[in-house]
Amino acid sequence: MNKQQKSAQRRGIEWTDYTWNPVGGCKHACRWEMPDGSIAICYAEHVAERVAQAAYPHGFEHHYWRPELLEEPLKLKEPAKIFLDSMSDLMGHWVPDEQIEQVLDIAREARQHSFQLLTKNAPRLLQFEFPPNVWVGVSAPPSFFMGRRLSEQQQARMVRRQIEVLRDVKAAVRWMSIEPLSFDIAPLLVDSDLQWAVIGAATNGPKSYQPRPEWVVNVLDVLDAQNTAVFFKGNIEWSPWREEFPAALVASVAYGK
Ligand code: SF4
Repeated sequence: MNKQQKSAQRRGIEWTDYTWNPVGGCKHACRWEMPDGSIAICYAEHVAERVAQAAYPHGFEHHYWRPELLEEPLKLKEPAKIFLDSMSDLMGHWVPDEQIEQVLDIAREARQHSFQLLTKNAPRLLQFEFPPNVWVGVSAPPSFFMGRRLSEQQQARMVRRQIEVLRDVKAAVRWMSIEPLSFDIAPLLVDSDLQWAVIGAATNGPKSYQPRPEWVVNVLDVLDAQNTAVFFKGNIEWSPWREEFPAALVASVAYGK
């Protein structure tokens, strides 16, 4: 079995060790239009509303603050990669500053771990100071955001703004989740100075839709030119396979020594 097949067989989110959700729920209502016209909903929304309803009694658009989960990372002694908002967007406009600060304080304390933060509300990143073990990331725009269809121009503007913001954020690792790779994003990432990128195909339930080969080639060329580590999600068909992590991973694990 090759790496790609192994990766595809893994359960959960391949690029992290744990998920941690002291904040839950999201009002961004992301939707993706697939090449066959079908519409995929956010995976977290699917989980909250169809699998884990007991934990989301007011639906996924409700904001849940779970302070009882705050200390979870402190109990994990072995260094781990922890995705800190897999069931929400920590930078969502509805999340109070104090809650975000409490989450970041735990990251400061749990310095043995690397915390992976991902947002679609990049401008809010500028309000906070991130400890070196928080990887600050943005995700590629969906087809529909907060109830509105995003045109190609609007998606491109959103990516440009995300990259502009990331350049101004002080973080050891700045990264982007390009999942799905659904257009030729490469020209927008020239000189983006990302340390890490995760690339995946479009999916709707069990069905996946591969990006055009030239989009993959183009984005790899741009990322390689700036030494960005690349991690392929198991749903993408590509060779040679890559599952790289940012070099700063080692630095962030050693943080504070
Ligand atoms: S921002 Fe993330 S959690 Fe929120 S709806 Fe979009 S994909 Fe789902």
